[in-house]
This record gives sequence, structure tokens and C-alpha cells, in this order.
Amino acid sequence: MSLDVTALRQQFPILKTQIDGKPLVYLDNAATTQKPQAVIDALVEFYTTCNANVHRGSHYLSDEATRRYEKARTTVASFIHANAKEEVIWTSGTTESLNIIAHGLAQQLQPGDEVLITEMEHHANLVTWQQACIKTGAKLVVIPINEAGELEVARFEAALNTQTRLVAFPHVSNALGTINPINELTAMAKKVGALVSIDGAQGIAHGGVDVQAIGCDFYSFSGHKLFGPTGIGCLWGRQQVLEDWPVWQTGGEMIADVEYQNTTFGALPNRLEAGTPNIAGAIGMAAAIDWFAALDQHAIQTHEKALLARANELAADMPGMRLIGTAKHKVGIMSFLLDGTHPADIGFILDRQGIAIRTGDNCAQPLMKRLKIPGTARASFSIYNTIEEVEAFFNALKKAQTMLA
Ligand code: PMP
Repeated sequence: MSLDVTALRQQFPILKTQIDGKPLVYLDNAATTQKPQAVIDALVEFYTTCNANVHRGSHYLSDEATRRYEKARTTVASFIHANAKEEVIWTSGTTESLNIIAHGLAQQLQPGDEVLITEMEHHANLVTWQQACIKTGAKLVVIPINEAGELEVARFEAALNTQTRLVAFPHVSNALGTINPINELTAMAKKVGALVSIDGAQGIAHGGVDVQAIGCDFYSFSGHKLFGPTGIGCLWGRQQVLEDWPVWQTGGEMIADVEYQNTTFGALPNRLEAGTPNIAGAIGMAAAIDWFAALDQHAIQTHEKALLARANELAADMPGMRLIGTAKHKVGIMSFLLDGTHPADIGFILDRQGIAIRTGDNCAQPLMKRLKIPGTARASFSIYNTIEEVEAFFNALKKAQTMLA
């Protein structure tokens, strides 16, 4: 069965937006996805019918809010095939998840230890580890990519040794679209006993994640890139690893027993979740997952591949267009440069035509420096985009090219 994109689009109120009389063409999905009515309704419903604080009330509303909030955790756990719901820690997003891991790691690293990352990192999966290394005297080792934007897997394997404490890589690169062979990389890192942390910000919405099958120790992701609200995300960690992980924020909710001079911390997941959480966000994220998981995953993938294939076809006919990231395995992310133009000017002219793309360094300055480019223009496709929108994007690009010539 093919995806009924017309029906799907009906569920996204924002897609009806007109910009200066032109229909919105939203191609900035790697930055954040739009929200279906089911998610918007879940947020409104929570605040309308059962808003209360969780885990501490002795009244109906609090019990109901707690029930829905914890059910949301179960939804996430089963979506990523976690072993237990206690392995799912609510965070504000991928960035916070990675910071929790880096904060704990910094308490364990010693001079001589090594942390491996890749050349394709988003700043969230780079500055975090870099700062942990600076604090502790550990070494940050950066594994190169090839010209297509694929990780040099042999170099990755060769860099692993008994000093490697943690290996961090993205499931999918936000700047290049590359899908990394995460199972293979994890298996290699496990042979030397390193912890494996996967930045799943871009991977979570593309193709199903099974953390147990991957074999990693941490998988981090954000709700807003999965059709859910902003300000909510998850840190999944293997239970044995999380149980000993150093607490990061302290305060209410994360304790077992408090005295003036000492505190015993609570059990998972609460020990890593201090303070009042983003209750509505968690419920909204679960609504997004329920909505997304009910779609035909095979049809989604086929549709996304068709969008990218059409874009590649049109790009091949576009004079002066240089694609940044041509990996064999990639998602619907097209980063590019147009000869003689600056990405910011392209973005501006496309915006005048109602087409939303991203321009700039894609939060990956070292990668841009490695590629010797100032940044890119980036179109990123999602399940509600159409072939006609891809074509409109290329027509607009041609117009921009003529205007800027
Ligand atoms: N890693 C990657 C690969 C990303 O694309 C992003 C978001 N652009 C992040 C991490 C950070 O995610 P967030 O801003 O939701 O914390």
C-alpha cells in the first residue's frame, strides 16, 4: 500500500498556511517536524482535563496526571524496544540527554582515556564530549569521513583500543543525511569494552529503533523531530549502566531520603529526573509516537525514498548544484551549494516563495571547516511532503539562481 499523503497532510493544520499568498512548502523537517492534530489535541486535553503535578498528589487529578505521564514512558519504552520503562529518562531533548551522559562520564574519565567521535557531529554530540575531555585530561579522537560523507569504518575500528572509554556517533547526520551502520559500529566498540552513546536526534523518525538489537548503552532523541512537542526528549540507557550513573541535577523527585547533611538518591528513573517534569510534553510525545507508529512504516520509507530520488534526479539536471553528502545510505536530507551564490541568499529567495529550508552551518562548524565550505542550504523532507513540493523547490531554486547570477 502506498502512503495517502493527501489524507496525511489533512492532519497537519499548519500545512494549510499561506505565505504572501503562496502555499507553505515546509522543507526544514530535520530542524523540527510539524505536529499532527492528534498531538495538539493531546496537549490541550491534558491541560483541559487533568493538569496537576505528578508523583506527589493525594488527589484525583494528580493520580490521573501521574498515570498518563507514566503511561507515556511505557509508550516510549516499547517504541524503542527498551528492556524496562525505568530505562527511559525524560529530558528536555537530545542535547540535555547527551549532557547527562557527558556529565557522568566526566566524573569517570582519567588522563590517558579516550573518547571517540566522528567528523560529522552536530555540536550537541561534540562540545559535550570535548568539554568532558578538557576537564579530565582524556583525549578526544575524531574519526574521519570520506568524500561522500560516510564514516571511515576501518579507521573507526583501528582507533578503538583498551583506553577507549566511550564511543559517540550519530545514527543519522543532520548535515549530510548519512545513515551510519550503528549495529556494526556498536559491535566493534563493545569488543574493547567501550560504552556506546548514539545521538538519535535524526535517526528516531527514520526506520524504527530497537535499542536492544543495536546493543548500545545510550540512545538519545527529541520529541520535536518525531512530530511531538518541543522541550521534551529521552535518554535511554541500559539499566545496569544507568543504575550507577552519577546523578546530575539534585532536588525534589530524585531522592529516597534527605537529612540536613546527607541524601540517599532514589531509584531509576527518578534519580535522573529532578524537579517537576514536562508532564504535558511527555504526554504529547507519547501521542506523537502512537500516531506515528500506527502509520504503515514500509509505506513511509518508500515515500521518503521517492522524495529523495526525485530530488536527486532534479539535482542532476541543475547546473552548478553541488550536493554535500552523497552517502549510499541516507535519509531525505539534501544539503547543497549553488555555484556563485551564498546559501543565505538562496534561503531568503526561497522564503519569498513560501519555501522553508535551512541555511548555515547546520550546527556542525568543524564539519563545515573539514569540507572547506561556509555552510550549506539544506532541504529536509518528511512524510507529509509531496513530489510536487520537491518540484516546486527546484523551480524556486532555478529562479533564485537566475536572480543571483
Ligand atoms: N544531534 C543531531 C544530529 C541533531 O540534528 C540535533 C538537532 N538539530 C541535535 C543533536 C540536538 O537536538 P535538540 O536541539 O532537540 O536537543
